[in-house]
Amino acid sequence: MTRVRSVSSFPVAYPEPNDDGNTRHLLFVRVEADDGTVGWGEAITMFEDATRATAQLVEGIAELVVGSDPLENVATWRRVKRASWWYAHRGGVAAFALAAVDIALWDLKGKLLGQPLVNLIGGAERERLPVIASTHVFDESMEREAERHGRYVRDDGYAGVKIGMGKKGGTRLGYEVERDVEFVRLLREAVGPDAMIMMDRGASLVWDFDTAVRRVDAFEEQGLKWIEEPFEPDNHESLRRLRGHCRCLIAGGEREWDARGFGALIDTGLVDVIGCDVGRAEGITGVLRVIALVEEADDVWFNSHAWSSAVNTAASIALSASTPRCLLQELKPLENPMQHELVTEPFAQHDGFVAVPRRPGLGVEVREDVLAKYRLT
Ligand SMILES: [Mg+2]
Repeated sequence: MTRVRSVSSFPVAYPEPNDDGNTRHLLFVRVEADDGTVGWGEAITMFEDATRATAQLVEGIAELVVGSDPLENVATWRRVKRASWWYAHRGGVAAFALAAVDIALWDLKGKLLGQPLVNLIGGAERERLPVIASTHVFDESMEREAERHGRYVRDDGYAGVKIGMGKKGGTRLGYEVERDVEFVRLLREAVGPDAMIMMDRGASLVWDFDTAVRRVDAFEEQGLKWIEEPFEPDNHESLRRLRGHCRCLIAGGEREWDARGFGALIDTGLVDVIGCDVGRAEGITGVLRVIALVEEADDVWFNSHAWSSAVNTAASIALSASTPRCLLQELKPLENPMQHELVTEPFAQHDGFVAVPRRPGLGVEVREDVLAKYRLT
């Protein structure tokens, strides 16, 4: 019987062109079976301290994984989750470690069985997903930024754009209502009448209820598809009032860690689109439990928060394609190291769609020389 022979981690720091070249961090996990087959996982740790902490946790978790049967990966997931009872009850950094190890084990299992991940999790509802360009804006000229995003739709074929506000750089979206309203007007002009537009508040901003309503009203005049995280997650009162007022969808959920947290959020009835990152929310095994809850609820959608590496994107596409309750897939439009250098065949959209990976496991080939190049030392 094949056993897991080793578990190792690769912390990286890399410049993200889609975030104005700012440095971001990730943790990769590599599992190897005793026949030499390798599986890859990733945690979207983002910050250096969280990345180093997660690498340390993976080192500790390794003894629970080495020697296990790769086909019994969910049992291994349970064992690792139980072992973190003291420092990760209902979430925390250990969920990153569990996510990265779990994704790597699913990749390994798929490669050993010769099956793509999407088949291992029950099969694809669709062979391709609509793709939007998920981006930040940073140029001080709103006209130039609107035009850049217009080109993603008109020239490249993306089905829409999602824009994070409150980011570094000169565009300064999310701070002044009139400026935000003018930007979305320019954006609609640039992308044309049919493209989806989503706006994401960004965690560094705090909007009061009245200015949030003014934004959403004006954005809706431009056909806003959804407003993402308009308030801090626990501000249910503002969310409830906004939901009673607006027509667009409300997205949220990226601060949750596990199915229990996502379930409680779904039960509030205040969020239409559940944003969930496989590299954060306890991996593929964890996210499958979230998707099951989404499917049980009425009129709730699952959305992969996949603003990370190609390993994360591969797992996210398979998960999203496995459920009928998914609207789209997000891709970063500018070429970047963790999507375009990391794997031999980067993900790309064609005519506004991305295909579900069909090669065994995650279906991507990770280049270890690229991990060495960006390794956090
Ligand atoms: Mg977001």
